[in-house]
Amino acid sequence: MIRSTHTRREFIRNSAVAGTMAALRPTTTSFAGPLAIASKNGLGAVARAVEEINQGADALDAVIAGVNLVEEDPDDLTVGYGGLPNAEGVVELDSAVIHGPTCRAGAVASLQGIKYPSRVAKVVLERTDHVLLVGDGAQQFARTHGFTQEDLLTNQARELWVQWRENLSNRDDYLPPHGPDDVDLGEAIMRNEEHWGTIHCSAIDLQGNISSVTTTSGLAFKLPGRVGDSPIIGAGLYCDNEVGAAGSTGRGEANLENCSSFLIVERMRMGDSPQDACIYACERITQNTHLARLKNDENEPAFNVSFYALNKHGDVAGARIRGAGQMAVADQNGARLIEMAYLFE
Ligand code: ASP
Repeated sequence: MIRSTHTRREFIRNSAVAGTMAALRPTTTSFAGPLAIASKNGLGAVARAVEEINQGADALDAVIAGVNLVEEDPDDLTVGYGGLPNAEGVVELDSAVIHGPTCRAGAVASLQGIKYPSRVAKVVLERTDHVLLVGDGAQQFARTHGFTQEDLLTNQARELWVQWRENLSNRDDYLPPHGPDDVDLGEAIMRNEEHWGTIHCSAIDLQGNISSVTTTSGLAFKLPGRVGDSPIIGAGLYCDNEVGAAGSTGRGEANLENCSSFLIVERMRMGDSPQDACIYACERITQNTHLARLKNDENEPAFNVSFYALNKHGDVAGARIRGAGQMAVADQNGARLIEMAYLFE
């Protein structure tokens, strides 16, 4: 079902999110944290980020400490250690960080064998004249700076990859377990929501400074070398200390084509609330989706993208292209999940 702009905006106004936004809005125009937002898998991450901020940490160190919890979690199949591998069974990680007060960024893409790509991205920011390192160069750089190389493929992720490989086609030599009478083997396993995922986290520290991080193992079973939106400044995250921050999870190709996170921050600069800015980016992707294979019978994008945003005043919100969803937020009152708005059922 398509929600008209009018209906949708009323939905937003009436939603639980709007209530949460009001509760988070301070009486002054500039908000001094702690405040952190993240994708739904970041409930622990935002709690950790706020804990760090309360102890005096800079927002960038706080968000990195937060997402490290997910990067090292073997049970999150979409980030860091335990992330689903590429088509060849190799885990390749993407991450970027932005430090609002100094307008600096660092990123790594297609990084193999290093558990904490967000930490490597921060070292790129601090100790190079570059923003983005990829592949072998990124790994070499990480090792130079003392990061340990390790096998990131867990048994759980390896088994899922083998299942995907066996069911990809019945015309190749990889087949799922079968008996003498089975004919129809290898009904393709489509990528579903479980095969997407990433963590984005943005925060405001006690000085009112904003920083962001996005970190992921990217699209499950991707082509080796495929880079998504997460390590690309302006696509998978953006942060402007004077305005706010935005980040995303979901189909990275859509964000690469639409510079979505940059778009959200610029919309907030022009006066949009975080929620309206996130919805605007969902609408922009919808308008720019022309390929039939990416649409459903209702002519809507058949894929999902989720956005998370906060502004300088401490307002937070998120929106998705498809269906209800939640995001994580933490402030002085603790960490919780809040509802996100959406364009299509
Ligand atoms: N955005 C990520 C990528 O395209 C994946 C995801 O969030 O699911 O690599």
